[in-house]
Amino acid sequence: MEGKRIVILGAGESGIGAAMLAQQQGFDVFVSDFGAIAERYKQTLVELNIAYEEKQHTDELILNAAEVIKSPGIPDSAPIIKGLKKKNIPVISEIEFAKRYTSAKTICITGSNGKTTTTMLTYHILKKAGLNVGLAGNIGHSFAAQVATENFDWYVLEISSFMLDDMFDFRADIAILLNITPDHLDRYDYKMANYAASKMRITRNQRIQDHFIYCADDEETLKALKNTKVNATQSPFSIRKKLEGGAYLEGNNLHININPLDPLTMSITELALQGKHNIYNSMASGIVAKVLDIRNATIRESMGDIKNIEHRLEHVAKISGVDYINDSKATNVNSTWYALESVNPEVILILGGVDKGNDYDMLRDLVRQKVKAIVCLGKNNKRIHEAFENDVEVIVNTFSAHEAVQVAYHLATKGNTVLLSPACASFDLFKNYEDRGNQFKMAVKEL
Ligand code: ADP
Repeated sequence: MEGKRIVILGAGESGIGAAMLAQQQGFDVFVSDFGAIAERYKQTLVELNIAYEEKQHTDELILNAAEVIKSPGIPDSAPIIKGLKKKNIPVISEIEFAKRYTSAKTICITGSNGKTTTTMLTYHILKKAGLNVGLAGNIGHSFAAQVATENFDWYVLEISSFMLDDMFDFRADIAILLNITPDHLDRYDYKMANYAASKMRITRNQRIQDHFIYCADDEETLKALKNTKVNATQSPFSIRKKLEGGAYLEGNNLHININPLDPLTMSITELALQGKHNIYNSMASGIVAKVLDIRNATIRESMGDIKNIEHRLEHVAKISGVDYINDSKATNVNSTWYALESVNPEVILILGGVDKGNDYDMLRDLVRQKVKAIVCLGKNNKRIHEAFENDVEVIVNTFSAHEAVQVAYHLATKGNTVLLSPACASFDLFKNYEDRGNQFKMAVKEL
């Protein structure tokens, strides 16, 4: 191993973590980023004396690698990846790499929507139960950096499909697949089956003593399951039907019957994270907790006291009887559907941004029932106007969070809800969804 050349493409959180771990393990490390590297990451590379380049990929320094660790943001269609594949140089994810150097057990959470929420909730329950647990993946500090510097027994990992695509020998002790709905199809030849297959990779290498937790109400998941051989013990969850060996809803009560001798029952009114989607997320986290034999009282308490997660149906303020809710993280139509489903009418819906080929049809019924006005917040709002011109009387264009909040404030009357749940990415007007959510919150606080 000593001296083997590892090249890391992309110097973000995961790339820098991978570089740290690779250096610690004695590899010859080189980091290359096609864009500019953030100052703080550059500083780490300099301090650790790790060779790097930015704003370019130099073939001669990359195509001589024994193995390449790629940031999930780089698509397979990038010329440098094509060059590597041509030379049969293995390209893996940071998660795949880091897992080789830890014996910690992993709980891996994937799905089109709800990953962050379920990851945070699971981590919260495990931590409250006193487990020595870390949080990583798409969230917080890089997994590889923590493997290099920490000594956790467990990790809760948020895993995107892009990461899964570059995972080969990795094995999840517990895997959760929350749902599969159209997203990022541009990276999967616009084929749902390819995207679903990528999500199912979460079950790869699992054995019977491992666990696979999935949503039995999700048609795409059920379809994908038919085409995949899963060795792990399966635990489904549903809010529509009673299930054995999983979690289900009956009236207002959530039941988890993984362990027949010690089932868990809890009223959904006790859940700190409200909304139908969060019943699913809570069931998935609750199953993990029961698999780990965490006490029912601890599970109930944790599910009841977790703090609102920023930018996800985050209640910002009530002003003149109007609730302002920040759901900036809703970057696709499906997540906006769940947001709309969970809020009280009448709603002033702030919608728009970079549309990744949205099909707005699935929102139509809810929009008709609940939405009084749509405030568009994006550079180009034509598709939103076309989609809803027959459903909503007032559709207004705005071009900043401040303007959107001002317009919404004037349209709203007592008892209404102003909901920022854009169904689109944010980078036409904002740096990212956090920036969009923060600007929205600031504008609300100025009212
Ligand atoms: P992810 O990390 O997968 O993007 P988040 O937990 O950040 O998901 O939630 C993003 C948005 O998706 C939330 O604001 C909410 O509107 C919606 N959402 C959350 N959980 C679910 C779920 N289980 N099913 C559908 N939509 C969900």
